Amino acid sequence: MKLTSYWLDTSEPFRSATAGPVQGSCDVAVIGGGLTGCSAALALAKKGARVVLLEAETVGHAASGRNGGMCNNGFAQDYGTMSAKLGKEVADRLYRAFDAGVDTVERLVAQEKIDCSFARVGKIKLAAKPEHYDKLARSQELLAANVDPDTEMVSRADLAREVGSDRFYGGLIYRKGAGMHVGRFVRGLAEAAARRGVEIHEHAPMTGLRPAPGGHQIETPKGRLHTKQVLLASGTSQTGPLGWIRRRIVPVGAFLIVTEPLPKETLDRLLPRRRMAVDTKNLVNYFRTTPDNRLLFGGRARFAVSNPNSDEKSGAILKAALHEVFPELRAARIDYCWGGMVDMTRDRLPRAGERNGIYYSMGYSGHGTQMSTLMGTIMAEVMDGRAELNPWKDFDWPAIPGHVGPPWFLPLVGAYYRLKDKLA
Ligand SMILES: Cc1cc2nc3c(=O)[nH]c(=O)nc-3n(C[C@H](O)[C@H](O)[C@H](O)COP(=O)(O)OP(=O)(O)OC[C@H]3O[C@@H](n4cnc5c(N)ncnc54)[C@H](O)[C@@H]3O)c2cc1C
Repeated sequence: MKLTSYWLDTSEPFRSATAGPVQGSCDVAVIGGGLTGCSAALALAKKGARVVLLEAETVGHAASGRNGGMCNNGFAQDYGTMSAKLGKEVADRLYRAFDAGVDTVERLVAQEKIDCSFARVGKIKLAAKPEHYDKLARSQELLAANVDPDTEMVSRADLAREVGSDRFYGGLIYRKGAGMHVGRFVRGLAEAAARRGVEIHEHAPMTGLRPAPGGHQIETPKGRLHTKQVLLASGTSQTGPLGWIRRRIVPVGAFLIVTEPLPKETLDRLLPRRRMAVDTKNLVNYFRTTPDNRLLFGGRARFAVSNPNSDEKSGAILKAALHEVFPELRAARIDYCWGGMVDMTRDRLPRAGERNGIYYSMGYSGHGTQMSTLMGTIMAEVMDGRAELNPWKDFDWPAIPGHVGPPWFLPLVGAYYRLKDKLA
């Protein structure tokens, strides 16, 4: 079993990194080479800006190359709850922003000819308990009446046409959802940005940032750079002068396993429509197929950080969960196991904007392949004076009380959600 991301292991490496020192000046420095940063760099370069992207490790090495590759519309939370909390008008606008996120990924894949198996296969949210089905059905009624007629319910009796497992009590289908090979997508975006003249430096963490005449000065171990504007696209960063952000984002580990390639007939039985499947538990599990006919199975498993030792422990928990859902996969070999850090905000909604002349976009809270890509393109406009285009512009962002170092409270949060799942 490889303790590495299946997506990064099965995509071409990014080949167009700039060699040599970080030096000179540019219009925009983008900090972070994930989906937000690569999408922003590409959009800024298309607008004619001189862009330098600094990546602490390698392109896509963090969440963007380690996720489930699910590119789904809709909120991670229930639409009715969001509507009650934010007001219908705001909730509908944000819901449509996630639609636009999926559309943006689809458009970039076509425009930049990125071979990443993007397919609108739809998502199914699976009721893990009988009463969850009723809740999903109420949600679907509201969705269909307000923002998403491309949804439908599937009863338990009909579920075999969607999922070959008797663990679920029906489901809610979102037809606009999609899947992709996210390693090929993020590296393809970076190649597209490099083709448009973006200088992409890998192993070049921003370690210092201060105001300088006409903009900002950035320090890296590879040299320093003068830039007129800065975009922080740095996810759960623990590197560099980003304390303000670190007090607002909690890095939460999430983990995945991938089986050996399976016979097509097996997948035709387990996931006949190849949907992106997610269950309704607080400690969610999700699964999908890969372009080479494996089954990917992910979840929170444990509230722990991601590192090879922790990933392996979480992998064992996920394997047991996989066998519960699909007992016929007991004999299937697990070829990959890895984890990544999710950039959680307190309300699980992204944050983007400008503070003290520095722009930022992050906090996608585990629902970000589409939103990060969309926000990259939007932040290019915001930095060009179009702040009104930012869907998150009206959200304030207070620090999380007590969150000043490593997130000591995560095991307590994990225990709380495990108990909630048990009692529900
Ligand atoms: C395990 C897992 C599963 C997920 N599954 C899904 C899914 O199926 N669907 C979905 O929609 N979302 C999913 N997500 C969320 C999604 O992957 C993220 O929302 C998205 O990738 C965020 O992209 P990003 O570019 O903002 O951040 P990242 O991908 O984290 O990129 C930030 C980059 O900034 C770099 N960086 C940090 N600090 C510095 C510095 N000082 N200088 C230079 N570079 C720096 C980092 O090295 C990193 O490469 C998942 C996340 C995880 C972790």
